[in-house]
Formats: sequence, structure tokens, C-alpha cells
Amino acid sequence: MNTLSNSLHHADITTTLHPYTDARAHEKKGPIVIERGKGIYVYDDAGREYIEGLAGLWSVGVGFDEPRLVAAASAQMAKLPYYHTFSDKAHEPSIRLSEKLVEITPEQITRVFFTSSGSEANDTMVKMVWYMNNALGRPRKKKFLARTKGYHGITVASGSLTGLPNNHRDFDLPAIPVRHLTCPHFYRFGAEGESEAAFTARLVAEAEAVILEEGADTIAAFIGEPLMAAGGVMPPPAGYWQGIEALCRKYDILLVADEVINGFGRLGSSFGAVHYGFKPDIMIVSKQLTSSYLPLAAVLFSEAVYDAIADNTAKIGTFGHGFTASGHPVATAVGLENLKIIEERDLMGNAARMGAILQAKLSALSDHPLIGEVRGAGLIAGVEMVADKATRRPFRTPGKVGAYAFGAGHEHGLIVRAIGDTLALCPPMIITEEQVDELFRRFVKTLDQTAGWVKAEGLN
Ligand code: PLP
Repeated sequence: MNTLSNSLHHADITTTLHPYTDARAHEKKGPIVIERGKGIYVYDDAGREYIEGLAGLWSVGVGFDEPRLVAAASAQMAKLPYYHTFSDKAHEPSIRLSEKLVEITPEQITRVFFTSSGSEANDTMVKMVWYMNNALGRPRKKKFLARTKGYHGITVASGSLTGLPNNHRDFDLPAIPVRHLTCPHFYRFGAEGESEAAFTARLVAEAEAVILEEGADTIAAFIGEPLMAAGGVMPPPAGYWQGIEALCRKYDILLVADEVINGFGRLGSSFGAVHYGFKPDIMIVSKQLTSSYLPLAAVLFSEAVYDAIADNTAKIGTFGHGFTASGHPVATAVGLENLKIIEERDLMGNAARMGAILQAKLSALSDHPLIGEVRGAGLIAGVEMVADKATRRPFRTPGKVGAYAFGAGHEHGLIVRAIGDTLALCPPMIITEEQVDELFRRFVKTLDQTAGWVKAEGLN
């Protein structure tokens, strides 16, 4: 490590509180400082190469050195580095990106509101839904239905919708009215002897029972990731979304698809809702919208939602919501260029093709003694490690083996995400077949090392 690195490491551990990190352990371990990126690879300050198997945070679709995004950002910086969209103001990049988003999303989606993060987009969505129901004269219709293990962000409202214990614990969340329903993951939440179809039927019946118990006139919206990602990469059981969609229509409940990870081709389809065949009233997008080169997110919604809100703004005289950076010109210019690249290079098709290869290779690992379930869709996969394959018994201390494998991955030049004892993969959408092979080789080495350690430690 050179002097600069030493001083960086020291400055980091003495000044920064890191997200999703044990701060006291970090003070001792220090950071892994990532210095530069190229394609699907990133390099740390000791010059070590890693395949970014999670595309940063499930987000860098076009890879880590796309010159067209750099050019789009600098051209917009030079022309108009900032302007806002409050009080009738507008600028070309945000208008063009809105137009593009309406064009590429399902036909019921006709309107766009920009924010900078997925969390802000979900908080905005909650406020829009409340505002709309007040405007429509149904002030009791404010509660949300979400799912255990769902991830929707960490701000006060979005963190309430998230269904993961660490996002609630000691943060006094949930702080908005929300009911978390059973996680739709058949392998873990299916009952003994239950078929997948019976599992789906049970979950839809549970949702209906909660609606009736709370009163349909109090339930505003149902939110879910079409394929649950950050909670452990869990595709829905067959028929699940159709069942939930039917309930939403029956009880006049808005259906919100959180597409923050699923969207823009990741599953090999344009959006998760398209992939699983349902029609949300509202979609939340971010991450791959700019390949995370700049912070940008959006709430996308139907004309019916727009009309109710717009009428109320006319009554009040304004829409009392918005961020300094809503529709930021540089971020939206980069978003527009990024979507063009995804389209021109058919990265959605590549995600479908490379995803099929990756999923097949991973599925072939199902016999590995450590692996309980391999799951995913397109270029997103989860590999769940278990103590006992036959009974699906998890490890005694959840997350310990996952954490080891995460570290072992680094040793083999691979960055994965450990979610408990599930390893998630979600590489950049530009990945080639040779790179899928290389990623897989590094993944197998990581697993083998982990299996050796589990045995040596007597963890199973
Ligand atoms: N929604 C989903 C589905 C996500 O995966 C995330 C982040 O991972 C968010 C919302 C929150 O986005 P952000 O981290 O930009 O606030």
C-alpha cells in the first residue's frame, strides 16, 4: 500500500460512517478502496482486479468506463449544469427523458416525477398516493401492503415499506401504516408438502384476508418488487402477480411495481412487471436508469393517478412537493444517453442470452454439498447455501457463512453480495460469454473455499 493509500485508509476510518457496515469492525479492518473501473471489472488501490459480480449495487448496466456517458455529462455540464423544475420551469434533458420513459414503459404509464434516489422515489410515491386519496375524498384509504424481505429503500416512508429487520431495528420504523405479508419465496416459505400453486393461492388468500380485516376502504396500495432482489433474489411463484393484481382491481387498491433493480432489461425483459405479466398503476425506477453514473430515480404513473393529483394542485394552487435536484439536467442527460446505449446495443437481449448461460451454469451447481437453491431470472441470480441440503436447514448463525464467502470472493477476484447465506450475482449487462465463464470459475473457487472452511469449522 502506498502513502496515499495509507492516508486514504486512515482518513476513511477516522471520518466516515459507512452505510451497511459494522462501524467498529470497519475501524479495525479499514476500507477496500476502489480506484477505477473498466467494463465489468473494478480495481482497488493495491491494483487488484475484481469482476464486479453485482454491477456495483445492482446498477451499472453499461459497465464502468462508458465514454458516451462521460461525454453526455460533460456536454450538459458545459451547457446548463443545473436548473430546477419548480414553478413551471423545465429543461430539455428532463423533458426528453420523461418522454422516453413514457415511450418504453407499458401503455398505462403516462407520467413521470423525478427524484435522486429510489428511496426518495418511494417516499414521493407514498405522499402522492395519500394526496390523491385525500383529493378523491377517501381520507381513510392510506395503508400499504408490502412483503416481508421486500426492499424499497431506507428513508422514513420507504424504510417502513421495506420488510427487513435491520432496516427497522432501532430506527423506530415502520412509521407509516403498512402490513407486511408473507414473502413469496416458495423454497423458504412454502409449507411441508405444499405445491407451488397451493403456495400462491395461500399467499393471495392471506392478502385478501388482510384487506378484509383492515377494511378495503383503508388500503391504498400494494407495493412489491416483481422479482425480489435485495432481500435474497426471489422470483415470485407462478400466478402470484396475477392473483395480487386481481385483488387490487377488486378492492380498488393501487398496484405499485418497484422496478429499481428489475427495470431496463435486467431480467431479459423491459421491466419486471412485463416479465411477470401484470399491469402496475405506478412504477418506481432508478439504478440502471443512469447505470448509476449519476443519482436519478423516478415515479412513473398512470393518467388516472395524475388526474386526481393535478385536480388537487389546481384546488390548492400548487403541488407542495419537489426536490432541488428533481429532473437534474446532467443526471437526466446521462439517463437518456444510457437508455439509448441499452437500446442500441440490445443489452436487454444480451441480459436474456448471457442470463440463460449463467443460470444454466449455476443450476448445474445444485449438486454442490453447500447449495440449497439456485434461483433467478435473466442476469440476476441467487445461490442459497444451507447446512443440510435434504432438509433445507439453514446454518446455526445466519449470515456467517455468507460473510465468509463474500470475503473469499474478494480473494478470487470476484465481488458478490452476501444476503444472509445467499450469494447474489447481478453483473453488468454488457457481460460477454467468456466473461460469464470467468465469473463462474471465480464463483466456483469461492464456493469450494467456503465449503472447505464450513467443514473445518464444523458449521454444518
Ligand atoms: N427499491 C428497490 C427495489 C431497491 O433495490 C432499492 C435499493 O437497492 C431502493 C428502492 C432504494 O434505492 P436507493 O438506494 O437509491 O435509495
